[in-house]
Amino acid sequence: MADDLGHRGTRHAVVIGGSLAGLLAARVLAEHAERVTVVERDRLPEGPDARPGVPQGRHLHVLIAGGQQALDELLPGFTDELRGLGAPRVGMPTDMVQWQSGQWFTRLPASAHFYSGPRPQLEWLVRQRVLADPRVELVDGTETVGLTGTAARVTGVRVRERGAGGREERVLAADLVVDASGRSTKAADWLAAIGAEAPHEETLDTGLAYSSRVYRATDAVPATDALGYYVVPGPQQPYGGVIVPLGDGHHIVTLSGLRGDEPPTDEGGFEEYAKRLPHPVVSEWLAGAEPAGPVHGFRRTANIRRRYDRPGRRPAGFLATGDALCAFNPIYGQGMAVAALGALALRRALSDTRRVPTTRRVQRALLDASAQAWDISAGADKKMPGATGDAARSKPADRVTGWYLARVQERAAGDAVVGVPFRAALTLTAPLTSLFAPAVVRAALFSPVPATPVEPPLRLGD
Ligand SMILES: Cc1cc2nc3c(=O)[nH]c(=O)nc-3n(C[C@H](O)[C@H](O)[C@H](O)COP(=O)(O)OP(=O)(O)OC[C@H]3O[C@@H](n4cnc5c(N)ncnc54)[C@H](O)[C@@H]3O)c2cc1C
Repeated sequence: MADDLGHRGTRHAVVIGGSLAGLLAARVLAEHAERVTVVERDRLPEGPDARPGVPQGRHLHVLIAGGQQALDELLPGFTDELRGLGAPRVGMPTDMVQWQSGQWFTRLPASAHFYSGPRPQLEWLVRQRVLADPRVELVDGTETVGLTGTAARVTGVRVRERGAGGREERVLAADLVVDASGRSTKAADWLAAIGAEAPHEETLDTGLAYSSRVYRATDAVPATDALGYYVVPGPQQPYGGVIVPLGDGHHIVTLSGLRGDEPPTDEGGFEEYAKRLPHPVVSEWLAGAEPAGPVHGFRRTANIRRRYDRPGRRPAGFLATGDALCAFNPIYGQGMAVAALGALALRRALSDTRRVPTTRRVQRALLDASAQAWDISAGADKKMPGATGDAARSKPADRVTGWYLARVQERAAGDAVVGVPFRAALTLTAPLTSLFAPAVVRAALFSPVPATPVEPPLRLGD
């Protein structure tokens, strides 16, 4: 089979989008191409600041263990640098007061850690590291408006400088183009314009909406040795509330609710909405804390998977990654991790000496890197009331799996035999099949549901 991706001998690769997925793809492509150009619509700030092209950056972002390990592999020493910037490391379930499906989690010893901290800070760190490579060039303040080439092969991108009346287009010729322009990608239009077919979009939308605000804790917040709070929404109780430290004396508070009952973005409404949570613990914390910024809202949270792997007239030399390939309901905290796992999959596929890395094969590897996260996100969201989209339909096997996983979840709150593999699967460090290991199956099927705290465990040992 021909090397239709052209990477053996790829001189120039263009990446559309200079956020996490684009930067990490550029990092890997620099190992294979003579040069890589990252085209980014925003003018990127010098420092770790929020920017318009990543509006979700104002909301809670946690880096789960699977993503953290992948980032360390792509950018050695990354976690140490992140910690050096003050990003808190939070152990689960030890460090959080967590409520899910009517149970408080026992604060057992941590078996998984995540990093919190501001999302712009994490992206800034990745950006510094990736752009330090002289083979990677950033062209910011520049929007990609289309592709060049034919339905058989992409030969570059059409770009336009933003602002300053920059209406003139120019072409950046490339042997390989990677779309990392996020969940609102225009790739379907770009492909149609060169006579190719857009991929089928699988969707599953619960209508989940976020409202987030930064607070400063004062002595008036309830005393606890936990680092944060996490009220997990579910089919019976649709409201979510999370409080995590940002590492600079501030905490981010994110409230969530479903379509028709979204959390408000006005100041009074935000704190009032927190009272709908099944326990006043988040409300009580808010009453003792001082706001340190405005309330921000976010509504586009559907799971969307673009099936480039399915047959269709698609050009060689065009790939999609990150949210542009597969975007998740953010409540599961997976997107950044999948961007990093995708970059590792890209590296493996391009370096594979046994198989020719065709466009289709490499795209398939990118999709596979998002499969577990999709199964978790779509699997849970199918059960949410009012979920819409073609991926919301249940299959007959879902009932059996759902029954088993409900037993696993009930026991995860207080039993380490189940809780440890449960957290490992959710944080993308172990496959979902680890939930079917004999010890887990025995505990899920034959052990009683362990006793868990009756009140929020504000102190270790409660
Ligand atoms: C509310 C919310 C909360 C989230 N919380 C978490 C979390 O806790 N943990 C986690 O791991 N993930 C989380 N995510 C997901 C995470 O934000 C993304 O998965 C992650 O940012 C990787 O996205 P990306 O790089 O693919 O796209 P994005 O970060 O969306 O970036 C796309 C980039 O492409 C640029 N762009 C767009 N169009 C063009 C164009 N035509 N030309 C040039 N540039 C263009 C944009 O300016 C932007 O820089 C959350 C998402 C949301 C919405």
